[in-house]
Amino acid sequence: MSDAAYDVAIVGGGIVGAACAAECARAGMRVAIVEESMIAGGATAAGMGHIVVMDDSDAQFALTRYSQRLWEEASPELPPEVEHTKCGTIWVAADDEEMQAVSAKQAFYSARGVPVERLDARQLAEAEPQLRPGLAGGLLVPGDAVLYPPAAAAWLVSRARDAGAVLYVGRRVNEIASGSLRLADGSRVSAHSIVNATGAWAPQLAPGLEVRKRKGHLVITDRYPGFLRHQLVELGYLKSAHSVTSNSVAFNVQPRVTGQILIGSSRQFDNEDTNVDREMVRAMLERTCTYMPAIGGLNAIRCWTGFRAATPDNLPLIGPSAEAGVYLATGHEGLGITTSLATGKLIAGQLLGRTTAIPADPYLPARCEKGFAHA
Ligand SMILES: Cc1cc2nc3c(=O)[nH]c(=O)nc-3n(C[C@H](O)[C@H](O)[C@H](O)COP(=O)(O)OP(=O)(O)OC[C@H]3O[C@@H](n4cnc5c(N)ncnc54)[C@H](O)[C@@H]3O)c2cc1C
Repeated sequence: MSDAAYDVAIVGGGIVGAACAAECARAGMRVAIVEESMIAGGATAAGMGHIVVMDDSDAQFALTRYSQRLWEEASPELPPEVEHTKCGTIWVAADDEEMQAVSAKQAFYSARGVPVERLDARQLAEAEPQLRPGLAGGLLVPGDAVLYPPAAAAWLVSRARDAGAVLYVGRRVNEIASGSLRLADGSRVSAHSIVNATGAWAPQLAPGLEVRKRKGHLVITDRYPGFLRHQLVELGYLKSAHSVTSNSVAFNVQPRVTGQILIGSSRQFDNEDTNVDREMVRAMLERTCTYMPAIGGLNAIRCWTGFRAATPDNLPLIGPSAEAGVYLATGHEGLGITTSLATGKLIAGQLLGRTTAIPADPYLPARCEKGFAHA
């Protein structure tokens, strides 16, 4: 063992870094979190907070399902400001072709023990009266939930601190070098292991890492209690999430406990401008109104952008990197709020040499060196 000040230093105080810190500190490790701006000030503050089980691949399913269960287990302990609400997701089918996708999704989830309910056109209209008439139906996943990501990250950080973690906030890491972090002010933080949890900025500390920024927009409305009951996502969402060449938008709306409605979502590569792009917002709202015309009559009060951390195969990078003692916990794209808790468990398990509840292999960064199997 080295005489490092910490067992593990985590760079990045977003929800992923916070979850890693909480898990490691509670397992008895000496933990430091180093964050250059504020806790949850990156993608975590910009995210939608949909805790969703996904069927994109078996690996993505395993991580999202495990993490959704961890959120559910944590639910009784979460403070009210985390607003963890099990509202369920409805995947909305516009036509008969999309009802075939409902059948495929239903079969996938049912085979893996996830409760789902197929809705016909009438049941969909009853479940969400503001949807336009004429939609074909949908798939209700009642176990999915929503939460408020910045409060969830703050809760994780407080758990980490209660277990002894030390916070360095407002301190930028300029370099990760053999067992220590070199901070922008010239000081160093030494640690036996280092976790790069800097989200979309991870390549700055790991040159060559195949993580790209993927810009997204969200709009939030004034309070309209009862207008919306479930998280609603169009079945075409995955097409939008997978497009790596073009800008895309998808119908994706979420009820907040305040009665506000969070409206997403957009995806853009190769755009690092943090400003709101009016054209993208217009396209996103037009898409929303094709599914839910009444939204056009509501007051929007704020709009913002954020950057997802995208990998070539749509899976996060969780585990040891090629550099000895340096771990990665990044690349969570549009699922990092959901999968943060599972990421924390995997990282802590790997650091302690313990068996993890789900196999870690699909997420190991070693696949970068072998060349990603592009999705
Ligand atoms: C529009 C949008 C909607 C989304 N909706 C959902 C959703 O519904 N459900 C879901 O599960 N996920 C969603 N996501 C994805 C989710 O927000 C992210 O995957 C998640 O927040 C990633 O967390 P993180 O901790 O890895 O990164 P971040 O929250 O970005 O945290 C990284 C931190 O590292 C810090 N940092 C960077 N460089 C340095 C450095 N050199 N030194 C020190 N600190 C540094 C940054 O300041 C930042 O605080 C959405 C994302 C967007 C943009």
